Amino acid sequence: MDCIFCKIADGTIPSRKVYEDERVLVFHDIQPQAPVHLLVIPKKHIASLEEVSPEDEVLLGQLMLAAQKAARDAGVAPDGYRVVTNIGPHAGQLVFHLHLHVLGGEKLAALNPKNPSDSDPSPS
Ligand code: 5GP
Ligand code: ZN
Repeated sequence: MDCIFCKIADGTIPSRKVYEDERVLVFHDIQPQAPVHLLVIPKKHIASLEEVSPEDEVLLGQLMLAAQKAARDAGVAPDGYRVVTNIGPHAGQLVFHLHLHVLGGEKLAALNPKNPSDSDPSPS
C-alpha cells in the first residue's frame, strides 16, 4: 500500500520520532502549525476514524494515552494543548492513515473562527 504514514511506521521514510511502542508511533509533523505539533499514529493502517471498528477500541485508547504522554513529555501539558483528528475532505484530511494531531506551546486559535462565541478576545 502506498501510504506515507505506513512508510514512516516501518522506517522506509524517516521521521523525528518521539515515542514508539508495539502499536503506536509519535513523531513531529513536518510542517508544524504550532510550536509543538506531533502526530500520533497506529502502526496498523486505518484510513481514518470513519474506518475504525469495535475491535479497535483498545487501540483508540492507546492512541489517546500516547497523545497525553507526548504532550506531557513535550512540556505543553500544564498550559494546555489540543488533540485533533481530521476526517475526510471537509476537515482537510490529507493523509489517509488515522492520526491525532497534538498541538500546543502557544495559545491556539479558535477551532472555528466563523463562530464568534468560539473566539477569545483576551490577549494570550
Ligand atoms: P491531515 O490534514 O491529513 O490531518 O494532516 C496530515 C499532516 O501530516 C500534515 O500536518 C502534514 O504536515 C503532515 N505530513 C505530511 N507528510 C508528512 C511526512 O512525510 N512527514 C511528517 N513528519 N509529517 C507529514
Ligand atoms: Zn497507512
